[in-house]
Amino acid sequence: MEPQHVDADIEKVILTEDDIQSRLAEMAAEIERDYEGRELLLVGVLKGAVMVMADLSRHLSRHVEIDWMDVSSYGSGTRSSGVVRIIKDLDADITGRHVLVVEDIIDTGLTLSWLISNLRSRGPASVEICTVLRKPEAAKTDVDVKYVGFDIPNSFVVGYGLDFAERYRNLRVVATLAPHMYT
Ligand code: 5GP
Repeated sequence: MEPQHVDADIEKVILTEDDIQSRLAEMAAEIERDYEGRELLLVGVLKGAVMVMADLSRHLSRHVEIDWMDVSSYGSGTRSSGVVRIIKDLDADITGRHVLVVEDIIDTGLTLSWLISNLRSRGPASVEICTVLRKPEAAKTDVDVKYVGFDIPNSFVVGYGLDFAERYRNLRVVATLAPHMYT
C-alpha cells in the first residue's frame, strides 16, 4: 500500500465532510443551549476523538476547557476486546465540574461504560456523552448518550479520526474500507 493512495483503499463513503460538519454545528448549538450559564469541560478520548474535538469545539462560540484521556480497548484489529486500561489520565481535577465526553464512535459501548463509571467516581457535577457515530450494538448498553451525530450500520469504518492499524485517521470523510485492505 502506497501512503499517497489513501482514496484507493476506500470502498464506500458513508458520511461526507459536509454531512459531518453540518451535523456538528447542530450538535454544538444544542450543547450551547443545554450548558448555558455553566462551565463546561470537554473530555476527548484519544486518538479517535481528535478530529471531532477540533471541529465540535470550534463550532462552539462559548468558553470551554479541553482535556484528554487515552484508554485502550482495541488492538490493531477490528473487534472490541472489552479490556480497558488508562494510558493517559486527565490533567484536570473534575470534582464538581460539568464534563462532556466527546467520542468518535460507540460500538459495543464497553469502553465508554467503563470510562463513564471511572469519571463518575471522581465526583463531577455531571457527566454526559457526545459521539459522532453510533453503531446498533450500542443500543444494548445501559450508557445514556446525550448527543449522537449519526447512527450507522454495523460495519467497520475508518476516517475522521478512526483508524485501521493507525492509518486513515486523516480522511475527511467516514468510509468503509475495500475488503482487500483487511487481508
Ligand atoms: P466499543 O468499546 O464501544 O466497542 O469500542 C469503542 C472503540 O472501538 C472506539 O473508540 C474505536 O476506537 C473502536 N471502534 C469501534 N468501532 C469501530 C469502527 O467501525 N472503526 C474503527 N476504526 N474503530 C472502531
